[in-house]
Amino acid sequence: MSVLVVGSIGFDTIETPRARAVDVLGGAATYAAVAAQYFAPVRLVAVVGEDFPERERAFLAGRGIDLAGLEVRPGPTFRWTGRYHENMNVRDTLDLRLGVFGEFRPQLPPAYREVEYVFLANIHPGLQASVLDQLTRPRIIVCDTMNHWIESARGDLEALVRRVQLLVINDEEARLLSGESNIVRAARRILQLGPSSVIIKRGEYGAVHFGPDTVFAVPAYPLEEVFDPTGAGDAFAGGLVGYLAASGDLSATGIRRGIVYGSVLASYTVEDFSLERLRSLSRDDVDRRYRQFVGLTEF
Ligand code: AMP
Repeated sequence: MSVLVVGSIGFDTIETPRARAVDVLGGAATYAAVAAQYFAPVRLVAVVGEDFPERERAFLAGRGIDLAGLEVRPGPTFRWTGRYHENMNVRDTLDLRLGVFGEFRPQLPPAYREVEYVFLANIHPGLQASVLDQLTRPRIIVCDTMNHWIESARGDLEALVRRVQLLVINDEEARLLSGESNIVRAARRILQLGPSSVIIKRGEYGAVHFGPDTVFAVPAYPLEEVFDPTGAGDAFAGGLVGYLAASGDLSATGIRRGIVYGSVLASYTVEDFSLERLRSLSRDDVDRRYRQFVGLTEF
């Protein structure tokens, strides 16, 4: 089964305490699509400018990602500049140039409308809802958001989360959305808003999945160095949805396995800038680290 990924594609300039990368491939949808395609065919809906290089288009197409939904508009591609603190769970946005992404109105090609497994990366919640309106029989909708939309579009976001099965957000966003500082209480509050379940990502501390009566926690893979955390959350969500699409298993066990696969993709993503580590990553590498995760958490 295919996965639909909708969100940003762009170029990032990233500063970490030890290194800097300028105008490298980024965007939430890029990370999610590349992560998901390790498991299932991916259909991408996004927008780039005419300046988007053929080399990067060929990279995505070469991964078998369906680009029929990739719109090319006159104008510049989205660009984001961020700087990480010594504690790499914390970062500042230094610059944001929306370019053609500012006019993004996701349009699904007719062949995409029957997709059952969906990841809505971080865009305006009203636009995320417009994607749901175009789907005929979704089985699982996984959705991300960000502080900016929680603060500026709360009504649209609350309407959206009632329609999704799995909200994937980081701990800071969970606190802002719920008004609770304790993560467990925050999750309970968020579930009252309507999503069937919520995953709270906690950077180097891993992720916790809360259902109405269940809790599942997975650590982050212990790495000696986190090189660049950008895109980890999107790679996590992409790996998770990709695995669910491949297995068709939406049981509690299936979701747990998907969460571990998502953690595997996130852990590889942070080993290098941009999508560099994913460019050379094989499915065998993914499965090897999945087994290491099993060993890591077994007792
Ligand atoms: P994250 O998963 O939060 O680390 O973000 C990964 C990607 O999100 C980066 O590659 C950025 O290009 C992209 N990004 C940053 N800000 C925004 C935004 N406001 N809307 C959509 N995508 C963004």
